[in-house]
Amino acid sequence: MTIRFNPGSSTHVGQVRSSNQDTILTHDDLYAVADGMGGHNGGEVASQLAIESMRESYGVPTTDALVEAIQSANEAVMAKADDDPSLRGMGTTMVALAAVVADGEERIAVVNVGDSRCYLLEDDRLRQITKDHSVVQTLVDNGQITAAEAETHPQRNILTRALGIDTRVMADSWELLPFLGDRYLLCSDGLFNEVAEAEIASVLQARTDPNDAADELVRLANEGGGRDNISVVVVDVIDDGGRRDAADAAASRVAAHTTGVRRAVANGTDPPPPGSQVDTTASGSEGGGGDEEPIARRGPSFRTIAFVCALVAIALTVAGSVIFATRNSYYVGIDSEQVVIFQGQPGGFLGIEPSVKERTSIAADEVPAAYRDEIDQGEEFSSLDDARSYVERLQEDAAAEDSGPVRTIDPAPPPTDSTDPSGDDPPGDDTTADTALPQ
Ligand code: MG
Repeated sequence: MTIRFNPGSSTHVGQVRSSNQDTILTHDDLYAVADGMGGHNGGEVASQLAIESMRESYGVPTTDALVEAIQSANEAVMAKADDDPSLRGMGTTMVALAAVVADGEERIAVVNVGDSRCYLLEDDRLRQITKDHSVVQTLVDNGQITAAEAETHPQRNILTRALGIDTRVMADSWELLPFLGDRYLLCSDGLFNEVAEAEIASVLQARTDPNDAADELVRLANEGGGRDNISVVVVDVIDDGGRRDAADAAASRVAAHTTGVRRAVANGTDPPPPGSQVDTTASGSEGGGGDEEPIARRGPSFRTIAFVCALVAIALTVAGSVIFATRNSYYVGIDSEQVVIFQGQPGGFLGIEPSVKERTSIAADEVPAAYRDEIDQGEEFSSLDDARSYVERLQEDAAAEDSGPVRTIDPAPPPTDSTDPSGDDPPGDDTTADTALPQ
């Protein structure tokens, strides 16, 4: 590798929390920030485990290896939660950066799950590389709220992706061309929720030493309120192998952008242009089956067809009503010693069992006494928004016993348009049918 980095970092518990659930990694050419969540010690355990697993499993310097290291970290967190009931429901974000080799050249790979972020300061301009996996980001993407409204939205702590929630995790990844003088910033939400991006940019421009810059950003976040743990890793590119002097120095920095099984490749454009996506999933063979011979058979009588159609229509109407009633019913209850929002009705309805819609980080034993009976019986709501509002009230009342924002994780990522050509707008897993949007 000719790319060389000079890193600096700082992490702080903040002004409100009693423990630091963030973990940072600065190891050789691998840098990461993980922001844990979960009751008791869950958040700390999850972020530390994920970072340890990441450091141990990442070997070959490729973007795919970095994505696989994220998957290993996910498995490590899930295995630990399975072993220890007190850690059930713990999770963590992860944003990581590494020097990799791709298509015969050295690049910088960035991978992300959750709402910790990677920014790039290039020529005094601060650009957010990653995109948050959060409910408010989805609302912004859908045009339902503005970016400014997202900053104060009551659901801004609800994630749509995190490590430790499902056996497979979707990570977004980017490959960028390294240029001498570029400065990367990895951080947890404890920074950007307290310090405006313009202020972050001016600190990164003014403080040349990366440790000095990281310390100053943490100090400003604490000054801004320090309502969450704050973690900052600053990574300076101090050798780009002569790229900046080369004739292609004006070329795009974004060399490739990968998400899950779909890969978008851009050559010399930033972001990847429309139509540049390459679907690596197996191509279908619609209209095939030419070898199949039609089979001649005697058809049923008209009366039989009419009778069957009537039965099917009745069955579909009943099934539709049941599904409608179930899908529009939510209740707040307990699962695995945690407060969760269920979709469906307590005890099930006509054979349809309720399913966990959203999991919160509130342990069952943290539920205030005033809510206990309701939660035990399953407090019902006709919309997800109403259920979330109830959880928020519960969180506020429980906050007297704890401090800091309590995060929740939606186990199902929102559906995204996998054909979206924008490089700044990573396509998601189009096989996912559920949604994190408020109903
Ligand atoms: Mg945080």
